[in-house]
Amino acid sequence: MGRMTQMPPEFPMRALFDAQHAASRAHVDVPLALRQDRLGRLRNLIESNANALADAVQADFGVRSRSLTEAADLFVLRAGMAQLHRQLPRWMKPQRVSTPLYLQPARAHLQPQPLGVVGVIGPWNYPLQLTLGPAATALAAGNRVMLKPSELTPETSALVASLVHKAFSADEFCVVLGAVDVAQAFSQLPFDHLFFTGSTQVGRQVAAAAAVNLTPTTLELGGKSPCVIDASCDLADAALKIAHGKLLNAGQTCIAPDYVLLPRGMEARFERAFLDAAQRLFPAVEGNPDYASIISERHHARLLALVGEARAGGARVVGWGADAQSAPSARRQLAPALIFNPPAHGRLMEEEIFGPLLPVLSYERLEDAIATINARPRPLALYWFGADAAARDRVLAGTVSGGVSVNDTLMHVAHDRLPFGGVGDSGWGAYHGKAGFLRFTHCKPVLVQSRFSLGHWFFPPYGQRFARIMGLLRRWI
Ligand code: NAD
Repeated sequence: MGRMTQMPPEFPMRALFDAQHAASRAHVDVPLALRQDRLGRLRNLIESNANALADAVQADFGVRSRSLTEAADLFVLRAGMAQLHRQLPRWMKPQRVSTPLYLQPARAHLQPQPLGVVGVIGPWNYPLQLTLGPAATALAAGNRVMLKPSELTPETSALVASLVHKAFSADEFCVVLGAVDVAQAFSQLPFDHLFFTGSTQVGRQVAAAAAVNLTPTTLELGGKSPCVIDASCDLADAALKIAHGKLLNAGQTCIAPDYVLLPRGMEARFERAFLDAAQRLFPAVEGNPDYASIISERHHARLLALVGEARAGGARVVGWGADAQSAPSARRQLAPALIFNPPAHGRLMEEEIFGPLLPVLSYERLEDAIATINARPRPLALYWFGADAAARDRVLAGTVSGGVSVNDTLMHVAHDRLPFGGVGDSGWGAYHGKAGFLRFTHCKPVLVQSRFSLGHWFFPPYGQRFARIMGLLRRWI
């Protein structure tokens, strides 16, 4: 196979990889009909088992609304797959490329081809969208796919595996289950592309493992996504949208607003508006079927510790139920909290929060807010709220983030014609829509020479004719 791997060939995961690799080299050209057939099988699998899949996600979380899974996992998947189905015939076509004068009358085109075997490693927070979404895109691009879903959603991952194995042969699409040791071994396979969604910390390890095989990666990571509030904004509307983005899935969303930058003097108004909005969306926390559980005891304890550390560092913590947060919750439903004046150094402002805690930082001048963002690793998302277009444009031009929603949170991820991905510490490579198809495709440049080519004029031995032609060409370009 030429490429190195540290795994023994008898390892079952390795055998699956070998089967997919052999099939991908034996059937390089994957016609439209076969790609559509694979997409159709995946669509049927989702349609026929949507309820069971939503139940499995619910069971894995403890509390996780089926409506949330319907919208954020299943609808997004369905919309993405419908787009793939519709656009695939166009995206698969070779693209004509115009030819410069000095190479005419040759012709050129880009020939889209599958990469081969794609590995997908997924997280637990939207365990269907973030596993089957990239898998569907890679299949549409004609690849074989091996998927390693998260061990923190064991029921969902096991159900996905059994459904996929009924609908696909193992050399087309297979699922590998297991914890971190399996994930590490998986990331060492010499895939043609490795698509990872997860934390920045694990993303570094995945990138290092893939580099050994020269396997290109897409890293869909996390980070601290800021919300910039401009004094010109409709504060009630901004607070409602921030509360929605923050409290959806109890803050366990990669593009959830992580912290707020607020003009100094607006603190009391924002506090009231946010608490009203949170109350409106989730009138109760404990026992509310719409308000998701924190995924595990460990994650719950970490979030409580972040609040405790911030309080000890002098922060003011407010939120209905903020005092109740020290009490154990059987369902791990953690009440939202606003945290004013958090200590600058400490886990709350240095790590991605990934829970319903919202630090609020006050700023004097817009430049200060921009400098605060630029002093940190580049975020996955940025949100701006206001009516002052000039202020908006200063923030958009002065900061770099994976994506942006203006006067809303999260929604740019749902736009199926916008690429989605991070930059810097929030990841590299984007997918969704055509960007996703291209992510899993090699666009092979092809030049077709004409029999009227004058290329031989450039061949040695070099003499006067060569010098004359080069002189002419220099003037043409
Ligand atoms: P994680 O990084 O802990 O785990 C993700 C996956 O990686 C799991 O399947 C896990 O088994 C596997 N893994 C763990 N250790 C590994 C290793 N050493 N080598 C290879 N694989 C390994 O992330 P998580 O807790 O499941 O998800 C939460 C994180 O994911 C957050 O940081 C969040 O922002 C990020 N996220 C990003 C996006 C995005 O699209 N950018 C989407 C969702 C979540």
